[in-house]
Amino acid sequence: MKVLHACAELAPLLKTGGLADVTAALPKAEQAEGVDVRIIIPGFPAIYAGIPTTNFVAQVDTFAGRVALRYGQYQGIGIYIIDAPYLYDRHGSPYHDCYMNDYIDNYRRFALLGWMACELACGIDPFWRAEIVHAHDWHAGMACAYLASKGYPARAVFTIHNLAFHGMFQANHLHELWLPDHFYQIYGLEFYGQISYLKAGLYYADQITTVSPHYAEEITRDHNGYGFEGLLRERRDHMKFSGILNGVDPQIWDPDTDNLITANYSTDNLAHKTANKIALQAEVGLTVDKDALLFAVVSRLTYQKGLDLLADTLPTLISQGGQLVLLGCGDRWLEERFLYMASQYPQQIAVRIGYDEALSHRIMAGSDVIVIPSRFEPCGLTQLYGLKYGTLPLVRFTGGLADTVADCSLENLENGSANGFVFYECDNRQLSFAISRAFTMWRNPGLWKKVQYYAMQQDFSWQTIAKAYIALYKRTVG
Ligand code: ADP
Repeated sequence: MKVLHACAELAPLLKTGGLADVTAALPKAEQAEGVDVRIIIPGFPAIYAGIPTTNFVAQVDTFAGRVALRYGQYQGIGIYIIDAPYLYDRHGSPYHDCYMNDYIDNYRRFALLGWMACELACGIDPFWRAEIVHAHDWHAGMACAYLASKGYPARAVFTIHNLAFHGMFQANHLHELWLPDHFYQIYGLEFYGQISYLKAGLYYADQITTVSPHYAEEITRDHNGYGFEGLLRERRDHMKFSGILNGVDPQIWDPDTDNLITANYSTDNLAHKTANKIALQAEVGLTVDKDALLFAVVSRLTYQKGLDLLADTLPTLISQGGQLVLLGCGDRWLEERFLYMASQYPQQIAVRIGYDEALSHRIMAGSDVIVIPSRFEPCGLTQLYGLKYGTLPLVRFTGGLADTVADCSLENLENGSANGFVFYECDNRQLSFAISRAFTMWRNPGLWKKVQYYAMQQDFSWQTIAKAYIALYKRTVG
């Protein structure tokens, strides 16, 4: 089976969030299962920098002019790169300029990704023709519309990594994009008077998935699906929509082999985790104290992530002698709030604004608790990394967090499923209680170690997940 993943990010070359981790790990896992997998991605500078050797495949006339397709290899996976420098040769984020303004030609930049993915199902590469196009998020959603417009030369699978981003553009652009006029309707990609590339994926894909079963259920509920809930319910009722949980790539995230951390460890020698904690405290300027409960955040700093609740709750954490290390960037008001708190409690709060892959590994290895108080969370990866690293997740019960973290309740402790701390409402009192419960358990090191052991035993391997996607592809083709 020939599967083409269409996406705008690929870790570690170009990453703004969990999407990139998935588009890097899933194709590799599928390939290991015998699938003939390739990726198509726009030719952003970071992609060319990571894949310096590419061959010309073909060029084709598109609505964006004559465009070349190139081909290279990255980590054993074939990558098609769309060579359109006038659209993609812009450094930094793939989506916006350095002032966070979306590029005004995004409608062309990402429609072209869809167009070229469709071309690979139509024979642009004489040696490889996609049978399944697996499009990720709104960036690639138009692949499904183009496939539909050409009578589905390949089947279309669309994965929602985050329903909050709709890829909305003015309807008058449709004429430029070489799609038939009748695609602009409620049973098409029209959405409240505009066109939505997300809806292109939701409506035209043969199968839709999202990145956790709980999120799949949440977004079909009224008021949770941004207006797409009716469409999603209909697709679910026709067995066209399901949730498949994301996984963890052990080549990148495994405390036993991770060469970015101070000391490797596993369940056999968990005591070595302490060396990571001491090194981390020293590195970020916290008081070096292995007995202080060290909370961590590695996240985009946005409203979605609920970190304003954590900021409200910091007095609880500080007054009980805890510490916080935060790595993230995003909304200025949140950055400033945490920076201010760090200036008030420099021995207990350390804040690093920015994006730092290596530091994120050291934080995961060196902390005791990873805090994820999200308002919504399609899957969430950092709680999975936390589990693998014996850094217990403290999460709100939503999306993939609800699927993967089981609270340290008495019954869960007894049956061996406890692996973290869970609170339910989006409310800082509840978060505060959860933090206090973490302190209570911290005072019982035997119990803490037992829960770390449960957490580290869990299997989030991509191999299992790849098998679920392959079964879905087979159903789709069949
Ligand atoms: P989202 O995709 O919504 O941002 P996820 O938890 O699914 O959230 O994935 C976030 C990914 O980005 C994780 O791999 C996390 O480690 C990484 N990450 C987020 N912020 C940073 C940062 N400031 N520095 C390094 N890695 C980060």
